[in-house]
Amino acid sequence: MSEAVGFSVEHRDGVARTGMLSTPHGSVATPAFLPVGTRGTVRTLDSRDLAEAGTQIVLANTYHLMLRPGADVVESLGGLHAFMGWERPILTDSGGFQVFSLEPTVDEDGVVFRSAYDGSEVRLTPEQAVDIQERLGPDIAMVLDVLVGLPAPVETVRAAMQRTLRWAERALAVHTRSDQALFGIVQGGTDLDLRLESAAATAALGFGGFGIGGLSVGESAEERNTVLDAVVGELPEAKPRYVMGLGDTEGVLDAVERGCDLFDCVWPTRLARHGKVLSRLGDYSIRRAEFAGDGAPIDEECPCLTCRRYSRAYLRHLHATGEMLGPRLLSVHNLTFTLRVLAGCREAISSGGFLAYRSGLLAGRASGPSETPLR
Ligand SMILES: [Zn+2]
Repeated sequence: MSEAVGFSVEHRDGVARTGMLSTPHGSVATPAFLPVGTRGTVRTLDSRDLAEAGTQIVLANTYHLMLRPGADVVESLGGLHAFMGWERPILTDSGGFQVFSLEPTVDEDGVVFRSAYDGSEVRLTPEQAVDIQERLGPDIAMVLDVLVGLPAPVETVRAAMQRTLRWAERALAVHTRSDQALFGIVQGGTDLDLRLESAAATAALGFGGFGIGGLSVGESAEERNTVLDAVVGELPEAKPRYVMGLGDTEGVLDAVERGCDLFDCVWPTRLARHGKVLSRLGDYSIRRAEFAGDGAPIDEECPCLTCRRYSRAYLRHLHATGEMLGPRLLSVHNLTFTLRVLAGCREAISSGGFLAYRSGLLAGRASGPSETPLR
């Protein structure tokens, strides 16, 4: 295990906490949100945009990068930080989530799937997932886990969880890069017994941090929160907890309240490409007719480039005409909004006011001119 990536808890407010994740490429104040750079790019945004929005750490997808351009190419160009022009921390997923969405052939050795790029057959084992991520060179790598679509029979979920544990051991055994942390992943669906077993056993393996996987796949907020409560209770206090694939505002607030530290999601940027705005007053579509002559920015108080310089009418026009700048400007805003929510969480936890911050934010989002909350 790496000593180059460390974590310390700084303040507690109930179960919620702030912390500092230190990596060879700088520190990350937690709770923190990771914008998703699927193919080594957070769509429409360059690394300067990301930094200006307040990004501390980004996620890149191993599945996509191993196929295009390939780990060898990225390695030969100095690794992901140099390749992406992003000198701050990077986390890569293991590729598991994408691979399992392709309904691969799974056996104890690994998975076989067809490349979405050229249809060729590709095998991925827990050892190869580590090797690829060591060559890509992020600060944090993830083990290859086994995912099942829910609902599924409990025996199926148990078998996937137990195989994930065996794969986690194999991943740990071959991970050698001392300037990179390897995180384990807790699985077990919405079955609390399986979640508890998975969390305790994964914690016992001694990873530098822990992903909580298999959530944000259609379960209710109550189911997700129950799982988080159970899992967090089994994970070590002194290690970061990362809820994979969670990024909607209400969901992140729920998870922060439960002591989780890291979150990633395509949510803010994907919505932006569909003309959806995230805001203190709720989420809504910029395409609505009422904005056609609206000279005000999305949010007078938002410091982002989009809100400093452009009107809702202009943003609506860009989306109505299919201009590329439209998705880019909304991505800048939505990412800034999400990162500011996390910054607000950190500030509130530090001063013991997290629950007040949370209820104030939720009340504001419910009061505005928004449509039905987006999920
Ligand atoms: Zn803004």
